[in-house]
Amino acid sequence: MNLWQEYLRPTSLSQALKAFAEAPRPILPIAGGTDLLLDLEQGRHSPVHTLLDVTSIAEMNVIEVRGDELFVGAAVPVNRIVLDPLVGVHAQALAEACDLIAGPQVRNVATLGGNVAHALPAADGTIALLALNSQAEIASLALSGASDNEHSRSVSTRRIPFKELFLGPGKSSLKHGEELLVGFYLPLSKNGQSSCFKRIMRPQGVALPIINLAIWLERMDDQFSQIRIAVGPGGPTPWSGTKAEETLIGKLFNDETFNDALEAILAQVGFRSSARRASSDYRRHIVNGLFKDVLETAWQRAE
Ligand SMILES: Cc1cc2nc3c(=O)[nH]c(=O)nc-3n(C[C@H](O)[C@H](O)[C@H](O)COP(=O)(O)OP(=O)(O)OC[C@H]3O[C@@H](n4cnc5c(N)ncnc54)[C@H](O)[C@@H]3O)c2cc1C
Repeated sequence: MNLWQEYLRPTSLSQALKAFAEAPRPILPIAGGTDLLLDLEQGRHSPVHTLLDVTSIAEMNVIEVRGDELFVGAAVPVNRIVLDPLVGVHAQALAEACDLIAGPQVRNVATLGGNVAHALPAADGTIALLALNSQAEIASLALSGASDNEHSRSVSTRRIPFKELFLGPGKSSLKHGEELLVGFYLPLSKNGQSSCFKRIMRPQGVALPIINLAIWLERMDDQFSQIRIAVGPGGPTPWSGTKAEETLIGKLFNDETFNDALEAILAQVGFRSSARRASSDYRRHIVNGLFKDVLETAWQRAE
C-alpha cells in the first residue's frame, strides 16, 4: 500500500496554507521526513493522502536578527543551524543541541521545526529552545473580506511561549491540518549571559539521548541573576527545573548552592523508565554529573 498519494511542494507560506486547506485529506506537513517517514513506514502513523513538503517555503528557511530577537525558521536543516554564526553568538545551546542530533546524513535534512513538532520530551533541539526562552511562530489561514460572500483567506500568524506547543508525548498543540510552525524567536544574548547543552547517550547511539540538559543563565557580581534549566525527558512534555532555578537565583556558585539545586531537580523531575534507553533510577543517578558539567560550562562562558 502507498503511504501517500500526493506530494506537494509549495514555495510560500500562503501557497502552503491554501494547499493545507484545499488538498485532499488526510494531509500532513513533512520537512526532512526523518521522523515522519519512519512513522509512516513502520505503521506508527496511518497512511495519508497528501504530504505537504515545507522545505521550500521561503519564510521558513531564514535565520536572521529581527529587532532584539533572533529568528530561526522551522524548515532550516539542523546542520545549517550548527554552522550559523548568529546562532553561535546568541544561542550556543541550540547550536550544540543541533550538532548532536543523529549523524551527518540525518542532520543534512532534519529540521528544527520537525524536531519540535514531533513533540517528544527529550528531543535535543526542543530542550535547547526551552532553556533559551524561545517563542514559537504559528501560521494559519484567516478569513477576511468585505461581506459574507466575499471572504478571502489571508495568512495569519501568532506567537506562543514555547512550552504551550506541547500537550503530551508525541502530541503538539498545533491544529492538525490547519497550522504550520513558521519558526522560533529567541532573545539576543547580552553581556553576562550564556547557554550550554550537553547530553548522555548510549555508546554509538544516534537517536534520542538517555538524558539531555540545557541551561541559559545570566551572571552578575558572581551570582546567578537569572537561570533557566531544561531537562529531557523530565516529564511527558519538555520539562523545566523551575524549583532548582528558584534556589539558584541571587546565589553564588559553590558546592552548597549546587547541591540545593540538584536536590530541587530530583524532588521535582518525573523521569520515566524507557525500555530502549534507561530506567528512571539510572536517570536520577546520572543527572548529577550532567547538571554539574552544563552549569559549570555555562557559568564560565558568562564571565
Ligand atoms: C537515525 C536517526 C537518529 C536520530 N537522532 C536524533 C537525536 O539524536 N536527537 C533528536 O532530537 N532527534 C533525533 N532523531 C529524530 C529526528 O531526526 C529529528 O527529530 C528531526 O529534527 C525531525 O525533523 P524532520 O525535519 O525530519 O521532521 P519530519 O520527520 O519531516 O516531521 C516530524 C513531525 O513534524 C511535523 N512537522 C514538520 N515540520 C513542520 C512544520 N513546519 N509545522 C508543523 N508540523 C511540522 C510532521 O508532520 C511530523 O509530524 C533521529 C532520527 C533518526 C532517523
